[in-house]
Amino acid sequence: MSRIVEHLADLTGFRDRDVLDVTLVGALKDLLRLQAVAIYRCVGEVGQERWLTRARLAADDTTATADPLWADPATLPRLNDHPDRHACLQRQESFTVDGSPTMAYFPLTTDREPVGVLELQTLLPLSHEEVRLVCSILRIYRNFQGLLDYSERDTLTGLLNRKTFDESFLRVAVQPPQPAPQQRSEARRLGPTGGSWLGVIDIDHFKRVNDTHGHLIGDEVLLLLSRLMRTSFRFHDHLYRFGGEEFVVLMRCGSPEDAAQAFERLRSNVERYIFPQVGQITVSVGFSELRPGDSPSSAFERADKAVYYAKENGRNQVAHHAELVATGKLSEETHDAGDVEFF
Ligand code: GH3
Ligand code: MG
Ligand code: MG
Repeated sequence: MSRIVEHLADLTGFRDRDVLDVTLVGALKDLLRLQAVAIYRCVGEVGQERWLTRARLAADDTTATADPLWADPATLPRLNDHPDRHACLQRQESFTVDGSPTMAYFPLTTDREPVGVLELQTLLPLSHEEVRLVCSILRIYRNFQGLLDYSERDTLTGLLNRKTFDESFLRVAVQPPQPAPQQRSEARRLGPTGGSWLGVIDIDHFKRVNDTHGHLIGDEVLLLLSRLMRTSFRFHDHLYRFGGEEFVVLMRCGSPEDAAQAFERLRSNVERYIFPQVGQITVSVGFSELRPGDSPSSAFERADKAVYYAKENGRNQVAHHAELVATGKLSEETHDAGDVEFF
């Protein structure tokens, strides 16, 4: 009993989702006789979803393994490469597949949606008591994630909120990512991780949506757009709702071309999506690479100036701040310097 309580204390001891998943697999391996335990998350664009390994521990492992941070979804297994896992996610129920080994699947959900699957591999089928223990621990895991979401996420869209952006900017953006110990070998395999990029996304003519269809439909557009963002960017990219219809993305990318491609993918996914009742919506995007010594507001300001340029030049486009400056379309001066800007 005290071992269970100790594991629960560990589970809720960090306000960090990566650590939470690693702690959960460690606790289950210690409490049950498992050959392997793993947490898989469903990621990627609708219709092309993949399995991302968040944490996996086999009987002989001392530390958990995980897919590399910023893994390219194209390199991950497809959902139906693992039919039983897929069935668990779709049906939202736990079940066991007897055999040698026996596999047990448990759905992972947040307060909003199904997000993944917990997979246990055992020599003998789990007892009724053991299944109850897993379900109880998963309830605590879910409740704790709900608490984290409550303080970090915007209630309408579920994206991170502005407060979180300010608090985590230096940690997630300017510093190179610090892989968890069990992820270091994979992170090394990725080679140089490239720079950090900040993108600002603003819906075009959103006021018209509210004026024509009302605020409730407007809110639904915001929700659907946030889903398109989640499927267009990678699991480890940080997505924020900044203000009403303005969103921010913080991500790491190897080159300006890769960053431009990621933002262009979102722009094009939004353009092609038919929003119920409203039809087509477009977004304007501005982005900039983060510089040493950047503050959240200085980095935001550059990307925002690029958005402004995109708005002034026809909307529904992606604008790269450095490119606009290099081609003389935008001046480099910032508001901090007290200068007036001409576009
Ligand atoms: P532009 O293409 O220049 O960005 O035009 P716009 O109409 O999108 O821009 P503007 O900034 O003038 O208007 C933004 C509008 O977003 C104003 C307000 O009606 C709407 N808005 C802001 N927050 C919310 C929200 O939480 N829900 C809804 N439904 N509408 C919001
Ligand atoms: Mg706006
Ligand atoms: Mg707008």
